Amino acid sequence: MDVKTRLPELAQARYGLELSQCSDSQLYHCLLQLTQELASARPAPSGDRKLYYFSAEFLIGKLLSNNLLALGIYDEVNAILTECGRALSAIEDVEPEPSLGNGGLGRLAACFLDSIAALGLNGDGVGLNYHYGLFEQKFQHNKQTERPNPWIEDESWLIPTGVEFEVPFGFGPVKAKLFDIAVPGAHTATAGRLHLFDVEAPAPAPQEGIDFNKSDLPARLTSFLYPDDSNEAGRLLRVYQQYFMVSAGAQLVLKELEERGCALNTLSDHVVIQINDTHPSMVIPELVRLLTGRGLSMDEAVEQVSKTCAYTNHTILAEALEKWPLSFIEKAAPQLTPILRELDRRAKAAHTDPKVAVIQGEEGKEIVHMAHLDIHYSRSVNGVAALHTEILKNSELKPFYDIYPAKFNNKTNGVTLRRWLEVCNPQLASLLDECVGRGWRRDPDQLNKLMEFAGDSAVLDRMLAIKAEKKRELADVFAREQGITLDPESVFDIQVKRLHEYKRQQMNALYVIHKYLEIKGGKTPQRPVTVLFGAKAAPAYVMAKHIIHLILCLRKLIESDPQARPWLHVAMVENYNVTWAERVIPACDISEQISLASKEASGTGNMKFMANGAVTLGTLDGANVEIAELVGPDNIYTFGAKSDEVIRMYAGEGEKKGADGRSYLPLDHYHRPAVERLVDFLVSPELLGVGDPAALATLWRDMKNKDWFMAMLDVEDYIAARDRAIADYGDRTAWAKKMLVNTAKSGYFSSDRTIAQYDRDIWQLK
Ligand SMILES: *Cc1c(COP(=O)(O)O)cnc(C)c1O
Repeated sequence: MDVKTRLPELAQARYGLELSQCSDSQLYHCLLQLTQELASARPAPSGDRKLYYFSAEFLIGKLLSNNLLALGIYDEVNAILTECGRALSAIEDVEPEPSLGNGGLGRLAACFLDSIAALGLNGDGVGLNYHYGLFEQKFQHNKQTERPNPWIEDESWLIPTGVEFEVPFGFGPVKAKLFDIAVPGAHTATAGRLHLFDVEAPAPAPQEGIDFNKSDLPARLTSFLYPDDSNEAGRLLRVYQQYFMVSAGAQLVLKELEERGCALNTLSDHVVIQINDTHPSMVIPELVRLLTGRGLSMDEAVEQVSKTCAYTNHTILAEALEKWPLSFIEKAAPQLTPILRELDRRAKAAHTDPKVAVIQGEEGKEIVHMAHLDIHYSRSVNGVAALHTEILKNSELKPFYDIYPAKFNNKTNGVTLRRWLEVCNPQLASLLDECVGRGWRRDPDQLNKLMEFAGDSAVLDRMLAIKAEKKRELADVFAREQGITLDPESVFDIQVKRLHEYKRQQMNALYVIHKYLEIKGGKTPQRPVTVLFGAKAAPAYVMAKHIIHLILCLRKLIESDPQARPWLHVAMVENYNVTWAERVIPACDISEQISLASKEASGTGNMKFMANGAVTLGTLDGANVEIAELVGPDNIYTFGAKSDEVIRMYAGEGEKKGADGRSYLPLDHYHRPAVERLVDFLVSPELLGVGDPAALATLWRDMKNKDWFMAMLDVEDYIAARDRAIADYGDRTAWAKKMLVNTAKSGYFSSDRTIAQYDRDIWQLK
């Protein structure tokens, strides 16, 4: 199909207009149709074995630019639009961002789909078609509020397939309708699919906020991702959702297997199911149920399923490892209970250690440990960064590693540099083309060749100029969309990611307080700094919401202080999502990756920032460790306790032990003078004057007495490291060299590399 003829044809057919007469919205819809036509004309990749990537989230972001790039028509479309005086970026503003994900895990799934397609691997995603997403975040009175985030329009990327399955819930059968989103592969002529299941009659958006009747089933099954689980009805709804996804997904797998003419007892020869975190774990008993229902013996079914499934662990936070009361599953899908009991019986017969049981607890109060189910009945268990996998093997999942050493493997996460460099930073991408040739776009390792330019002042100046341009672009968007003025001449110091105590936005806020108090004490900073945050807090996560409140109050206080304002700015992106990430990340000077060591499994934000020439300020946690090894100590700022020290403190090893079992005693740290004044500022008259006293006092008490993620342990070291980074920023040439090294070394973090490793070690699709 010739784009040059087809696009004007579409404008005529749809609107009776020339391209140049179309509104941005009309142009968007022409391009949507064009892209859909081209993508659906592409065949699926070939291959005898097929991967199904099951995930509760796919944080795919807007698709237009990415699909144009993958289809190889990005430059051509851009040229046609420019010719009629239009900009792709303005047209893209019309596209709603799909709300199918939450944070890093969902974004990883999206990068993986992109890479699977780009490598021409035979693999599809399987998930749910949430209508209102997680939620849309609004700030009111310096607090987060939530509202539904509808994104599905009459014309969208969703393709109805006509495929339907019946999901047998305890209350009766529910029809699951399949919609597909095409995933065209860059550098191939094939396309994969994201399969999203939906109910037949989805409920409308709630009238106010995101509260709704959790037992309004089946209409509410696909309303929201992660409905509030602070009460039983919400938790039960999550089980219903998960079963809806995996039952329909398992039926799709078996349907396609049969269509390929393969016998059920050869499932594992032809299918791999990657279970992304524990949300899809019920696919294991569901497949066993379907296979035995279709004639396989229990032994055969268990063997096939165990050889078909593979599990990715994403967390070592105990509270984040899902455990469901057996009674919930009994209610949602009673037919799974006997299968789960049988799987548990087999595991207990083989392994007497109660720590590895699938079902734990006394009768009537039994809980199902989803990760344990996954590990016993999978062919592979992987962590998502080298450090994370070591922690799984040596502490969190040690009893399992002792049983199944060969199952455990590491797959360090990656990001698609197509979205996170080529599309979001075309200026840097073309500089890279000039320096190292275009080959890096297909083979990101070639970015290493950029190292040859580390002493080239012309290239370094270009890097600085591009960064300055991206900072101005971001300032423009902020002014336009949030009415906030940013100073592009200041250092952009950025922490954008989900709000969680382990990620320690609160420690970043303590730094802001430190700077503010310094300025008020008469000490002028080296240079103006903008501290930018972006984060959604889970609606029921009280402490996380208090931290957002703290940040917004600090902003208000500082903005209204003429002494501080020239030097210090605090701003927070409202409704941080992929679209915002694509604007914020290329504009970053200092990338804040400050999680408590051992708690962040990998992080992928850190990789996106690095590729765009930001310098990381981080703890030796997750993939930061690998970033540090690659760029070397001169090109990263690391600080804080190491993961083994932290793990020992949680285990209570050391001289003193607190009531909560840790040998970390928050009050000891609080009472250091340099720390106490920062923490106490939370309840200072200045801050109480702008904020909610109850919320700030709760935060203050928690930090002082509990500080579960040890912000006070690292805060002094953090302040020193951050001040060093901000000082070093002043030597522009030396800083540009750090930027260049970060970009040059980021090829390793391409998700194409990650996916090639999954295929080599786990999937073997070709
Ligand atoms: C990459 C990304 C994340 C993950 O960020 P981390 O810093 O790795 O937690 C979350 N949200 C969005 C929108 C992203 O693009």
